[in-house]
Amino acid sequence: MNMPLDRSATWPYEEGEPQRFSYARADHPTGVAAEEALGELDGGHALLFPSGMSAITTVVLTLCRPGATIALAEGAYYGTAVLFRELERWGLRFAEYDQTGRPPADADLVWLEAPANPMLTMPDFAAASAHSAPVVCDSTVATPVDVRPLELGCDVTVHSATKYLGGHDDLLAGVAVVRDEEIRQRLWETRRLTGAVASADTAWLVLRGLQTLEVRVERQKATAAVLAERLQSHQAVAVVRYPGIGGLVCFDVTDGDAALRVESAVRVIENATSLGGTRSKIESRHRWEGDRCPTGLLRLSVGLEDAGELWADLEQALDRA
Ligand code: PLP
Repeated sequence: MNMPLDRSATWPYEEGEPQRFSYARADHPTGVAAEEALGELDGGHALLFPSGMSAITTVVLTLCRPGATIALAEGAYYGTAVLFRELERWGLRFAEYDQTGRPPADADLVWLEAPANPMLTMPDFAAASAHSAPVVCDSTVATPVDVRPLELGCDVTVHSATKYLGGHDDLLAGVAVVRDEEIRQRLWETRRLTGAVASADTAWLVLRGLQTLEVRVERQKATAAVLAERLQSHQAVAVVRYPGIGGLVCFDVTDGDAALRVESAVRVIENATSLGGTRSKIESRHRWEGDRCPTGLLRLSVGLEDAGELWADLEQALDRA
């Protein structure tokens, strides 16, 4: 049976005593049900947020003090780097590092991404967890179907649930998952105080999305592997980035003009941002990320369409490269 959707913002006390649910900014039943399912998937206690960025912000504000240095994976989601730069005004520092090696010794927080979006490097989990600082892994692209960072020594896993966990491009949500009860309590307190709480409707949609997570991801992965291989031998493609997990494939054509021609020519694949949905999407990332990313890099999020149909679309678009 599906979880009933309870949109209440308050629940009555009994004999003057607040019960398990009293005010939705603290907790609400649909959110807690989603958190139980998400926690089980990642092997910890989950907290749901109204977006991936609000999960990231809450984790940083909870774990860092002014003066702290965050070691951030190079080539990771640019929004995370932009947020960390913004937080420099509040006394945080951050430095990007190559997550395939050891984090810098002076880091107070290590921030990994599995795999980095869009450069698609995988972190060295052993090197990161050997560091004395807490380790956070943004595992949005890998999903718990392929990687469970808490089992690999990380202290916190975060996801943009907007992507594969929701899976249908119809919600914005984020998740933080931890094993340590004290960290969970501190994150929950920050969330309650800042009000970064996902609505019951969002939580319900996340639960709905999770029902098909594994079958969606397995199919997206199988199609991504086929497309990555075909892209490797296409003459218009200089570099293919595909880590062998997840449904994201990035590839480079010669320059920004060629990338624009390719993304404008697709017909089955949507020319749109985001990833992890049922419909394939492609876009040049340079428009958003500037110098962080090669001008010719195209990010393809593989959906549930037929692999042959997707390849035919890519081939005709690559003819314009
Ligand atoms: N982390 C990664 C890896 C992402 O790709 C994104 C968004 O693209 C985010 C976090 C931010 O998530 P949201 O858009 O749900 O705030």
